[in-house]
Amino acid sequence: MYCSIQMEQPNHCQSYREAKTLIKHRWKEKFTNKTSGYKPHQDPLHLLSRAEQAIIFRLRTGHCCLKALLRRIGVAESATCDCGEGDQTPEHVLQACPLLDQLRIQTWPDQTDLRTKMWGALEDLERTSMFMASSRFRV
Ligand SMILES: [Zn+2]
Repeated sequence: MYCSIQMEQPNHCQSYREAKTLIKHRWKEKFTNKTSGYKPHQDPLHLLSRAEQAIIFRLRTGHCCLKALLRRIGVAESATCDCGEGDQTPEHVLQACPLLDQLRIQTWPDQTDLRTKMWGALEDLERTSMFMASSRFRV
């Protein structure tokens, strides 16, 4: 059996533009793969205002001004939330932080899971962004 590294490689000259198109196409295929479950055309994120989109996107990626990320990049001394009950992550702030209990109950009177808050319908994402904008935490 031949290892592909030992075989002579065909000389394909591709322009930067062709390479960029191929990479984009492969990334899109991977990102929209049925196994990932993510369907960009069904994501109501693009229907939100720019400010709301930024909040949701930052929460989804974890690239926000919460202490967990700030600690990871060496900006904060500790990742522990001001409440002292865990790392200040998007999940902690949205689901468990006792400092936001009252606001959380006002925003979601019924128990709502994290997936719905971050990946739900348009109304769910609007609630989440409003919750974060009204909270003491900046994302
Ligand atoms: Zn907390």
